Amino acid sequence: RAAVAHDKIDFLFTNPGNYVELEALYGISALATVKTLRANKPSTSLSAAIFTRTDRTDIKTLEDLKGKTFIAVSRDAFGGFQMAWWELKNHGVNPFRDFARLQFGDWPCEDTVYAVLDGQADAGTTCVDTLEHMADAHKIDLRAFRILNPKTDPDFPFLHSTRLYPEWPWAKLRHTNPALAKRVAMELFALPPTDPAAIAAHDVGWTVAADYQPVHEIFKELRLGPYKDIGKTSLRMIVHQYWSWILCGLMVTVLVMLAIAYMLYLNKRLKQSTLSLAHELAQRHRMETVLNISEEALRELHKITSAQNMGFDDKIQALLSMGCEKFGLPMGILARVITEDYHVVAAVGPASAMKGKKFSVCDTYCSIALQSQDPVGFENASTSEWNVHPAHGSSKLEAYLGIAIIVDSAIYGTLNFSSLQPRSVLFTATDKEILKLMAQWVAGEIQRKNTIEEKSQHLARLAHVSRLSTMGEMATSLAHELNQPLAAIVNYAHGCVRRLRANGVDNPGELLKAMTLVVTQAERAGEIIRRIRNFVANTQPQREPIDINQVVQEAVTLIALEAHENGVTMQLEPSPSLPSVLADMIQIEQVILNLLRNGIEAMDSTATQQRELVIKTSMPASDVIEVAVADAGHGFSADLAERIFDPFFTTKKHGVSMGMGLSISRSIIEAHGGRLWATLNRHWGATFRFVLPVDGGTRL
Ligand code: ADP
Repeated sequence: RAAVAHDKIDFLFTNPGNYVELEALYGISALATVKTLRANKPSTSLSAAIFTRTDRTDIKTLEDLKGKTFIAVSRDAFGGFQMAWWELKNHGVNPFRDFARLQFGDWPCEDTVYAVLDGQADAGTTCVDTLEHMADAHKIDLRAFRILNPKTDPDFPFLHSTRLYPEWPWAKLRHTNPALAKRVAMELFALPPTDPAAIAAHDVGWTVAADYQPVHEIFKELRLGPYKDIGKTSLRMIVHQYWSWILCGLMVTVLVMLAIAYMLYLNKRLKQSTLSLAHELAQRHRMETVLNISEEALRELHKITSAQNMGFDDKIQALLSMGCEKFGLPMGILARVITEDYHVVAAVGPASAMKGKKFSVCDTYCSIALQSQDPVGFENASTSEWNVHPAHGSSKLEAYLGIAIIVDSAIYGTLNFSSLQPRSVLFTATDKEILKLMAQWVAGEIQRKNTIEEKSQHLARLAHVSRLSTMGEMATSLAHELNQPLAAIVNYAHGCVRRLRANGVDNPGELLKAMTLVVTQAERAGEIIRRIRNFVANTQPQREPIDINQVVQEAVTLIALEAHENGVTMQLEPSPSLPSVLADMIQIEQVILNLLRNGIEAMDSTATQQRELVIKTSMPASDVIEVAVADAGHGFSADLAERIFDPFFTTKKHGVSMGMGLSISRSIIEAHGGRLWATLNRHWGATFRFVLPVDGGTRL
């Protein structure tokens, strides 16, 4: 083959198998086919025998060879294997798959015959006439062998199992000189069997080149030689043939993969954003709920704190109830803490029985709340560090939310909510904020209440002082007033005594008349004394529905003597059927007295016939009553219209009140929800007036 490949030779004599391969690879062509002498007959055919030992009764056909061991000459031997292979294949036996073992004994071919004879293989194959040759040489006994798939041919009298193939060809190479080739061919065809060359070559001459197509066919079918790769498509071929499609396919695949990767990435991001969106939504929902709750709580808190018709105690009570509901705890307490004592000021729920009771602060959880600026809360004392607190043993409270109440920078006490049962839900920041607001409001209310109480106490003290001074000024005239009934009583009594002495009891009618007058005068004196005692007594401010006309009348009566002595006439113009006013009668009477006295004093330089005080009551609006005191005095300059109400403002050189009268009066009126002011009259004098809300009306 190497020689052919490199054109080292011109002619070639080889077996048909080699020939077809080299023909296909290097274009050699057969010039002649050898005629071999076999059993004294010229033959131009080849074949192969497939055989076993005669005693192998289990092997009678080619099909019986399945599962048996088999020996051949060589995988590349045309007569020594490939012919048998084709035959076996046509009988459905694949030598490489169906045999128990396939072995190759190599040349000489006789070795395969011995191997079968010795039992090294169950069957074997060898090229044509090997068996006959061996038998002729007495190496074997032909009877010991059975030919499988035996074929007979009158022109081919040899033991054989396969179809016939042409004998070895004489071939020329592609480069061989055609003239030379022709001459050689002619010489070969002309060679007689008797030629010494023919004899030496064991042949009997040459014939025209046979048809090597059957060899091509067997090679094709067995995929041998040039047909090795037929039907097998190599990768290289595919790439070569379809590179553009492959490129397109690869690009499409890459694009599709990129698209898939991008979609997966998008999907992942979508999933992430869906998750975070869901998280955000849940958060917002929670926030909204908290806001709703707190908004609702704030509204409720505002409703309670701004209620007009509720007193401090009622508001605290409502606030505690609201806290219990908001925090889901049944007990609510407002406690006052003084040194180590814990006083329950207000309480709702099961704790209401504790109202007014006193405990030691150390025995309450509030001892902790008092040390903190912020609310203190826990849901389950037993399972937390709170179980060591003394309050846990004494109160058995499990859930607690409390805060200190600071009034005027000092601790007032605590506002707290609690339960004997653990709370299943944790306290939120909103809960604590609401509690803080409640505590702030409570602190503010306490502070306001304290201020009002202090103010009214102060006012009461001032009013008392003022009354005492008024009393001092009135003392002389009161003594004078008392003198009148006393003198009258004395006169009537003397008259009676005289009558009795003169006439005895003859005329009891006269006596009775005189005695009745005595009683009337005595009662009058008693009434004067009672009024004075009422006026001076330092009673606590007490509000009750009062008839303003009656109070005005009372004040006018008290001042009547003083007015008379100063040449002042008083004219009372009460409006009929005024509604009652919720007020402290003594204080309002004090105000009216102040105004009356100021009016009298303002007219000391007024002409005597013009000294007149007009006192009017009226109802300027449906829920307001007004009292006006108009004098004909010296009035005041416009810039003093407000200053005269300042404490200690006075233009008088004498007197005890020292400029406090109007200031106290205004405080009293404002404490009653009213207003007091002064205006100048058109011609002369001034009018002082005050308004008060009628009972049940709103502050003015
Ligand atoms: P006092 O009477 O002790 O001066 P008041 O507070 O009652 O204290 O009055 C303050 C001042 O207001 C008086 O000094 C006076 O100047 C002025 N005043 C009060 N009433 C009248 C009035 N009816 N007419 C004019 N001035 C008045």
